[in-house]
Amino acid sequence: MLHPVICIDGPAASGKSTVARLVARDLGFVYVDTGAMYRAFTFLTLEAGYDPTSRERIRQLLAKVDFHAEIRNKEIALREGKRDLLPCTRLPEVNAAVSPVSALPELREYLVNVQRKLRLAAPLVMEGRDIGTVVCSDSPYKFFIDACPKVRAERRHKQGERDNLAARDQLDSSRAAAPLLRAADAILLDSGAADARSLADLIVSRVRAARQPAPTVP
Ligand code: C5P
Repeated sequence: MLHPVICIDGPAASGKSTVARLVARDLGFVYVDTGAMYRAFTFLTLEAGYDPTSRERIRQLLAKVDFHAEIRNKEIALREGKRDLLPCTRLPEVNAAVSPVSALPELREYLVNVQRKLRLAAPLVMEGRDIGTVVCSDSPYKFFIDACPKVRAERRHKQGERDNLAARDQLDSSRAAAPLLRAADAILLDSGAADARSLADLIVSRVRAARQPAPTVP
């Protein structure tokens, strides 16, 4: 059986992770950060000394890597063999190379499969760039969180991370394979105009209302 999935897409530093975590906690769903999966593979690519734009190299990496995405305590654990990959995902060199690596169609195909399989395990709140358009395009629960570049740059600065948002946005939006795009049926939310709690409340109430069984006619 396929469990329900709430799709939350948006550009870098739009605040979608904070909102997605709150929604997952409120509903008791599992939070899935697909960006962390692309980041994990970017780390493995750099660690192997591979060119992050090479399709041949990513094919080689996919053929040999022992990658697992497993649900543990309502969170996703990302492992290569026994090694936990999550601590490697926020390094500055990963921020700099993640968009070119994510544009490689071979990697996208592989990770979309991994992401779709998670729907067999539990109800999910999945965040990323192509969740509503590609990964779970059949879901009735789609949200796109955005904010102006100034608000997003300030947010990243406060998090103390070095991250060229404009370059990532440009690459993520212009790539041929599954570019960052708002699904036609996604509800647009502005994280510059409302705080994360209010946005999460709005998503939770919409989802709860949509999941309510229709009243039976006596
Ligand atoms: O969400 P986050 O900023 O951590 O994502 C890191 C990068 O991973 C994005 O800039 C994008 O290149 C890639 N990504 C993607 N598709 C997703 C999630 C992330 O291409 N579903």
